[in-house]
Amino acid sequence: MSVKETGVSYYGLSYPEHARRDFQEMIDHNCNAVLLALSEFDIDFWFPNIKIITEIAKEMGLTVYLDTWGIGKWFGGEPPSLFLNNNPGNRQVSATTGESLPAACFNTKAFRDYFFGICEKLAYEVDADGFFWDEPHYALPKSYASITGGAGDDWACRCPYCQRMFEEQYGCQMPKLLTPEVKAFRHDRALDILETASRKIKAIRPKSKITCCVHATLGTYYVTENRGYDNWDKVARCDAFDVFSTTIISYQLPQHFFKNITQRTLDIAKKYDKASQRWLMSYYQEPEDLNQIKDVVHLYADMGVDSLFGWTYRGGHGTVLAAPRALEVWDKLGEAYGEVLQR
Ligand SMILES: [Zn+2]
Repeated sequence: MSVKETGVSYYGLSYPEHARRDFQEMIDHNCNAVLLALSEFDIDFWFPNIKIITEIAKEMGLTVYLDTWGIGKWFGGEPPSLFLNNNPGNRQVSATTGESLPAACFNTKAFRDYFFGICEKLAYEVDADGFFWDEPHYALPKSYASITGGAGDDWACRCPYCQRMFEEQYGCQMPKLLTPEVKAFRHDRALDILETASRKIKAIRPKSKITCCVHATLGTYYVTENRGYDNWDKVARCDAFDVFSTTIISYQLPQHFFKNITQRTLDIAKKYDKASQRWLMSYYQEPEDLNQIKDVVHLYADMGVDSLFGWTYRGGHGTVLAAPRALEVWDKLGEAYGEVLQR
């Protein structure tokens, strides 16, 4: 079976004439899509050029997705958050210690309004094909590891706002333990903001394709990291999303992990009539034999995944998270894409 979409993420975008060259390099590496990783600073400072860069990518034939990268430190990613910079409050709070954490509480009105404002601005003014929800998660205050080696018992968010909402809904004080009610509350709230944002975007730009990308974990029985999006069934069921996507897997993990995660991604996507997407590691770590990149791309293609994306352009070359042989990794990914992309 062949893949319909191949792409990479692209960050640090500032100058349209430079972006044009980079997009040509992506096309030469058999990409037909690009994910623009937009930090809060990019959206605030470089907005005029984001619009132009998107137009150029589309004009060159690439499908363009906007990634709300690291926003509020609620989404995955390295960029700092302007919201946290400018707001002393509205932070997630550790259930165990009561301390504020360096992540925005996405249940507060202040953060929701801020995030919806960003989404609406992008939807109105940037002519992209879709949005990408990038590894959304509650902050993970790590204490002692559990006996099975996973996350400790601490969790977030138990800020005054979340506590009030929980009390209104359940008629009792929010426990400090992760009771089934607390888990359900966290899941519901975590999905609500993304569902609401997706609907607002579609009201402005009905054809916008929304991808929700969750962490690729096995954590459903012994261990769950309690990110709020670990129940894949619940995430994929959401009408506002069009593509169900799962994140990268380290090349150090055994082959059956790649198969297992991908099969589960496909099964859930099919169940809810969504397209499927798998991410490939193309930064930081690389397999000893770079041909393994090709093997994984072929495995995903053979299993029937619709869309393949690599994080990131040029294997992260020039960043602290570059793959050791970043440019060779990038070339290998490009070759592999060329072998599986349906033209
Ligand atoms: Zn909160």
